[in-house]
Amino acid sequence: MKIICPKCKKGAELTMDFTSVTCDFCGLDMSYGEYIKFVAHNEEKYSDILGDYTGSTEGQTAGSLDDWD
Ligand SMILES: [Zn+2]
Repeated sequence: MKIICPKCKKGAELTMDFTSVTCDFCGLDMSYGEYIKFVAHNEEKYSDILGDYTGSTEGQTAGSLDDWD
């Protein structure tokens, strides 16, 4: 599914089994675990886009790309 790339802030792709995150725009390629640590460390606001995975219902914002399917 589409998520916000933590590097270029365009549309990155998260595999359906949550194993890896790739971005065609900037060449981002990391495991989902690395992605979590990357965004948590750099941009607290990006915790919003992880809501579907963590079960959190807060932080649904207009900036989310969750609906790109
Ligand atoms: Zn990118």
